[in-house]
Amino acid sequence: MSELSPVYGPVHSWRFGNSLGIDMIVQRSTCSFNCVYCQLGHIQDITGDQRIFVPTSEIIAALERVDWTQVDVATFSGSGEPTLALNIHEVIHAIRSRWNKPVMILTNSTLLGDPATRQRLYEATTIACKLDAADDETLRKVNRPAPGITVDSIIDGIAAIRSDGYTGTLALQCMFLPTNRAEAERIAELAARIQPDEIHLNTPRRPYPRQWYPEARGNHNPNAPVPTIQLKTITLEEAVAIERIIQAAVPRAKVLSVYRDAPAA
Ligand code: SF4
Repeated sequence: MSELSPVYGPVHSWRFGNSLGIDMIVQRSTCSFNCVYCQLGHIQDITGDQRIFVPTSEIIAALERVDWTQVDVATFSGSGEPTLALNIHEVIHAIRSRWNKPVMILTNSTLLGDPATRQRLYEATTIACKLDAADDETLRKVNRPAPGITVDSIIDGIAAIRSDGYTGTLALQCMFLPTNRAEAERIAELAARIQPDEIHLNTPRRPYPRQWYPEARGNHNPNAPVPTIQLKTITLEEAVAIERIIQAAVPRAKVLSVYRDAPAA
């Protein structure tokens, strides 16, 4: 058994309500990105290699101990990129069939070009795909990807969810910070190509930990036990302007903004 549970929370999410965190990775932060704003800090294993990190039986056993009356949604996020886990579909299926709760996948979109990876996600109620950059230079600055990942490969992967006929909610999640705020119009153009059902606009309000620590995955410990760096965010005025640009490009999409829907205390 792993020392850390693959299930944590529920924690309150500005997007989803009481969100039970599902961590398919546990122990070391592992991701095909190393975002400058990652709440996990500098990613320990930057890789696009998929494998089984935690046995399905161990995750199911943890799910059986949950008080599901307190859960609005199960969210796959945790210690890195959830689509790296080859058994993710087994856990999604268990939650949908045994506890009948909505399932949200927060993915960095980098593995969606692989049909088998996409298929593993299709029992989820929402697939929220990260899109922070409209060109490869910004991708390198903001998301610092593993080798071989490009904006084109990301867009093709997200668009394939639509062409596969996925019937759940397709969302884009866009993190804006001073480095990419000038790309709002080009990101809006890409969003218009994808035609998502929802777009979640965010800015890094959480301090960047200098190293990984377990509670970082749920963000339910505001007093990080490690040194942190406060990141620069965009301003309210910039957030409002970006929201207008994005909404105009994709009128059919429901746009959520952390500034409007979860104003700072
Ligand atoms: S994609 Fe998510 S987990 Fe991976 S580095 Fe970026 S913020 Fe962290």
